[in-house]
Amino acid sequence: MLFIGLAPLLVISAVSLTTVIETRLENISELESQVIDSAAEKIKRYLDQKMSVFNLVVDLEIENISEVEKEKIDFLAKGLKEATGNVEELVFIDRDGRELAKETNTLQTEPLSLQGVSERDDFETAIAGKNYFGPVEYNLAEPTMIIASQIENKNRQIIGVISAEINLKPVEEEISQIRLGEKGFVYLVDEQGKLITSSNKNFASQGEDLTRLSLVKDVVSGKTHNGLSEEDRYKNPLADTVIFSGKTVEKVGWAVMVEWPWQDAFSVVWTMLTRFLLILFVSLILVAGFSVFFGHLVVKPVEILSKGADEISKGNFDYKISIKTKDELEKLGERFNKMISVLKENQRLRDEFVFVAAHELRAPVTVIKGYLSMVLEGDYGKISKETKSVLETASNLNERLVKLVFDLLEVARSEAGKMEIEVKPTSVKESVQEVLKEFENMAIQKGIQLVYKGLAQDAKAMADGYRVKEVLTNLIGNAIKYTLGKGTVEISHEVKDNYLITNVRDEGMGISEENVKKLFSKFFRVKTEETREIEGTGLGLFICKEIIERMAGKIWATSQLDKGSTFSFSLRLA
Ligand code: ADP
Repeated sequence: MLFIGLAPLLVISAVSLTTVIETRLENISELESQVIDSAAEKIKRYLDQKMSVFNLVVDLEIENISEVEKEKIDFLAKGLKEATGNVEELVFIDRDGRELAKETNTLQTEPLSLQGVSERDDFETAIAGKNYFGPVEYNLAEPTMIIASQIENKNRQIIGVISAEINLKPVEEEISQIRLGEKGFVYLVDEQGKLITSSNKNFASQGEDLTRLSLVKDVVSGKTHNGLSEEDRYKNPLADTVIFSGKTVEKVGWAVMVEWPWQDAFSVVWTMLTRFLLILFVSLILVAGFSVFFGHLVVKPVEILSKGADEISKGNFDYKISIKTKDELEKLGERFNKMISVLKENQRLRDEFVFVAAHELRAPVTVIKGYLSMVLEGDYGKISKETKSVLETASNLNERLVKLVFDLLEVARSEAGKMEIEVKPTSVKESVQEVLKEFENMAIQKGIQLVYKGLAQDAKAMADGYRVKEVLTNLIGNAIKYTLGKGTVEISHEVKDNYLITNVRDEGMGISEENVKKLFSKFFRVKTEETREIEGTGLGLFICKEIIERMAGKIWATSQLDKGSTFSFSLRLA
């Protein structure tokens, strides 16, 4: 019951657990990609905002910014630098690649280079009309980078370039605030895979080349990771197994990466799992408790009842059922007891009837037997042949009646516990010899050879000699009776474990295995074509059993159809 109750629960739990784990993994991947996208978006916005400031349009018709007065340009540069913020250095360059004005945070201002700038990447890219995002530099407290944009005139013609070194402090601040769960963190690397910043300061130092980590290398070279595949789980330099996601940031070629320690990411699932296990454990205990409780409440009384039913079917009417459950089962037990007492009373009445009937019949049938034998022997004068023949038939039938009446009396006595048995050291050998003598004529008439192996030492058994003869008469009588043709009936003994065993073996019709089991019950007779004509009451073996058991012995039979049977009984040695 416990198993049937819990098996579906366990299966459902296992299935839902795997589903929960899968769903959680998808959630994690989604969360990571949201974090990456929002970080990338912020970076882009920061750079775009800076760039839009430097993309200057002057409301003049001039061809080159150098045509504007130096003072004005200086003023403009100063104002622009201050207004923009996070600018380390800002330079105005004219169309020909000459620096016109330079605003810097350092005290010593570098002299303006009036030529040579024209070959620098920032200038070349910006003058060609494209915005320039330079590589990240790690010389200052915060990483910096050069960005450059165009100065345009009224007609949107490029008349110069503004190149500025901006620091990435705001980016650093934004990134440093991003967390996933308790331990998940974000980091940003430049297009060469060097660390710009990370929200976990222990992870790596600024400017450190992280392309040694194959996943980082992958992302820098353009491949996106989303934390879902097996390879996205790796042991990071902090020795945590993490779920990794990463993606490049448009325009600059940087990459944003997220690492979320597996244990932390799944902590929700673990919490759920431990709660679930706790509930499972508690319900297990409850179910087990209920089983034991109901076991006592229901199963126990049912067991008691079925034991009672067994005892009744064995004929033990003194058995009492005791169920104290104060419910229908207790009432059922009481009804059972009532039924047993009714059965017991019925049996008593039946036994009494049998005893009285047999007792009352005994005198008449015995007297009839006496008279018939006297008439047949001519004590009342000569009788004709016809009369003799009729009287002989009557005498035979009366003989059967006498046997039945005596058997019934014996059974009734035995069942009432009134069978008289006096146990004392008795010679079984003598009993056998006496009984064999009685059967000599009958055996010769039927062509049956009686063989007695005897007993080496005349071992005496604890028995009632008269009763032993009664048993032997029955067994040897049956052996002769149920051997239809010629054959041998052999009586032998053996001594085993302090018991004397007597075997009566015949070569008669034998008994089927199924019938052997029923042989010793009251009124049992084998019903076949062969036995139909043979007279009997079906009480002989039952009486034998009662007698032998009263003498603390056992009786049994082995048999094979058409081969013969062996009936044996054991008696304790004196
Ligand atoms: P019955 O008066 O019918 O002989 P028993 O109790 O002595 O009654 O025997 C019961 C039945 O067992 C018999 O009817 C018979 O069918 C079977 N039986 C007993 N002894 C033998 C035997 N030696 N061989 C075959 N069948 C036997």
